[in-house]
Amino acid sequence: MSDPRNELAAAGARLAALGLSPGSSGNLSVRSGDRILITPTGADLAHVDPGGLSVLALDGTHLDGPRPSKEFPLHRAFYRRDAGTRAVVHLHSRQATAVSCLPPWSRRSAVPPLTPYFVMRVGQTPLLPYAPPGDADQAEELARLPFPLRAALLQNHGPVLAGTTMARAVDAAVELEEVSALLLALGERSPRLLTPGEAAGLAETYGSPWGDC
Ligand SMILES: [Zn+2]
Repeated sequence: MSDPRNELAAAGARLAALGLSPGSSGNLSVRSGDRILITPTGADLAHVDPGGLSVLALDGTHLDGPRPSKEFPLHRAFYRRDAGTRAVVHLHSRQATAVSCLPPWSRRSAVPPLTPYFVMRVGQTPLLPYAPPGDADQAEELARLPFPLRAALLQNHGPVLAGTTMARAVDAAVELEEVSALLLALGERSPRLLTPGEAAGLAETYGSPWGDC
């Protein structure tokens, strides 16, 4: 499954099968050399046509294929932040979107370190203030956040996650959805969180972005 088009289509089908693409929402992209392949506007993640992707230059210029998702600036923001980023996943998945409507846990992460796998697979996940879908200024803010990250929550909108492979971006999306479900299940209780030392130890071992939240 090394062809990026097929990889993207398979990831879309997996995310849809997991119920993370309600109402055919969400968009996916992969970087292939100096090109970004992204789902077109109105695409259904369950049925992505590998031959029908939109092709963009890294500067956002539309090169080929149908019109891209209007949320492409978010994807570009992650490719701009880190040359090692190979895939970006944006969803309107229920649990993470619910958490995006709550006050953030800290400046650097909307979600606290509840579980090791959240810290290892996702890392600190800042909340970006609300903007309409496709807003260029919000994407610019994401591109310029002055600390490392592979995930963010768009306020009242949903998660966006990046990975060095599509598989890692999808795994991060699944993990963020799970930790969001835990957070919502805990409600108003005061759960034990991983200590700063425990979170820092995991981040160091697994190379995940987790700083002084
Ligand atoms: Zn969206």
